[in-house]
Amino acid sequence: MALLIEERKQLIKYGKKLIDTGLTVGTGGNISIFDKESGYMAITPSGIDYYQMREEDIVIMDLNGNIVEGSLKPSSENQMHSFVYQNRDDAVAMIHTHALYATTISCLNIDLPAVDYLLAHSGGKNIRCAEYATYGTKELAENALKAMEGRKAVLLANHGINVIGGSIEEAFAIMNNWNSVRAFTGKQRLSGNLSFYQMMRWKRW
Ligand SMILES: [Zn+2]
Repeated sequence: MALLIEERKQLIKYGKKLIDTGLTVGTGGNISIFDKESGYMAITPSGIDYYQMREEDIVIMDLNGNIVEGSLKPSSENQMHSFVYQNRDDAVAMIHTHALYATTISCLNIDLPAVDYLLAHSGGKNIRCAEYATYGTKELAENALKAMEGRKAVLLANHGINVIGGSIEEAFAIMNNWNSVRAFTGKQRLSGNLSFYQMMRWKRW
């Protein structure tokens, strides 16, 4: 284990933060950090609890899907991460989660208006919802990238959310906004119907 030591530490640190803030549970979601200098990304492995994860468990990959260092299977969404780094100069880190409230909204298949100034940190007047595709597929990677154009976040229909940042700190801060959304909307309103959408339009920022 020699490559991207600092990035490995950060992935484990922020994986634990996702658990601690309730943005994911157990082994859910995945995180990567891209090193522009080497052209490699460090990504969390598939199916390992963040609190059990060791630095040597992190997988180092090039952007063509080849494993450069690591003995574990990388996250099944590794292509979704590498597509982003290939196409977005502003991305150095990406977090994918099934955060409860984001996933609930993703099941409505709507573009979420930036109803809260915190959501506006995602880069625009709304957060689009990418067209549905099966998890782990190239199609999902393509749909997600397309719907994230000009934004730092994208909902994945009936699945979850991706957030990118110029640093892992930024990506996490944007993802963590979902906890504020939860606070101001309340669980009941997010139970998945159009009245919630109407409420959001009314509260448009
Ligand atoms: Zn997922």
